[in-house]
Amino acid sequence: KQRGKANYVRYHGGMELPVVGHARLGGELRRGLDAGEFFVVYQPIIELATGRVVGVEALVRWQHPTRGLVSPAEFIPAAEGTGLIVPLGRFVMRETCRQTAAWLAEFGPDALHKAGPNVSVRQLHDPDFLDDVRRILDETGLPAERVVLELTESAVLRGPQVLSTLHRLHEMGIRLALDDFGTGESSLSLLRAFPASIVKLDKSFVDGIEIGQEGTAEAAARQAVARAVIQMAGALGLDTVAEGIENQEQADRLQTLGYTLGQGYHLARPMPAEDFTRLLARQTGVAAAA
Ligand code: C2E
Ligand code: MG
Ligand code: MG
Ligand code: MG
Repeated sequence: KQRGKANYVRYHGGMELPVVGHARLGGELRRGLDAGEFFVVYQPIIELATGRVVGVEALVRWQHPTRGLVSPAEFIPAAEGTGLIVPLGRFVMRETCRQTAAWLAEFGPDALHKAGPNVSVRQLHDPDFLDDVRRILDETGLPAERVVLELTESAVLRGPQVLSTLHRLHEMGIRLALDDFGTGESSLSLLRAFPASIVKLDKSFVDGIEIGQEGTAEAAARQAVARAVIQMAGALGLDTVAEGIENQEQADRLQTLGYTLGQGYHLARPMPAEDFTRLLARQTGVAAAA
């Protein structure tokens, strides 16, 4: 009898846990957002040939009072599921634009070219999204040309309404990057319909790429994808960024293939704003304000 009950509970729990988990996390997210527990870290995008910072990706973090630091992989799906990604994304966008405007004011217009957050498809469906972006640019004084929004291919495939929003952003001067490129249902026609300026080669094609021609078939296949992506990007006039570079051999191999920009732990980890300020101070030779 007891075992029957336990089985029932396990079955029931298994069926409901994801939903209950999302709902519970949703409440926690709302509370955490109101309590100011979210913050933004910044990962440099680096010119491979020189090591210079040319841009930055903004990534959200949650400092939870009892769970500690929670990774976005855990809470972004719940935030998307509950709609809280809209206010959370707005917070990340405002914070990133405010911080980038401050860096440009402190270190000059050449300190870095572009900065930006990831944007979920749920945000693109929000009728206020474009107005929110305009208001944030207005309030922070950051020129639209400085902003890159990172989107995944699946987001871009969501039909005419989203595509029209993306065209409006492009007309404002905002740049769009296709994130995790090569993992979704990429097609040439999609890339041509979508006003992207940048493709980010997914880390899965960078992993093991340094093993080279004489290495495994798997490594050779990744190299073939990396080569195809850069050729296609070149033909369409798009910039490329290689993601998830973890050693110098990968950086070298990617450069040989024609990649000029990269991102990854080997180059720099995501860091708090204060650390990025110090990095820019070193690079520009301008003393950072205390
Ligand atoms: P993503 O946009 O592809 O971001 C890159 C992820 O790879 C980041 O993880 C970054 O910390 C990690 N990474 C960078 N270099 C390396 C490396 O060399 N090795 C490894 N193993 N990882 C590296 P993070 O910050 O945990 O974010 C994970 C994903 O969560 C992001 O993937 C993005 O899809 C999503 N995300 C993060 N912040 C936001 C946000 O503010 N809004 C939305 N909508 N999504 C976000
Ligand atoms: Mg990204
Ligand atoms: Mg990415
Ligand atoms: Mg990725």
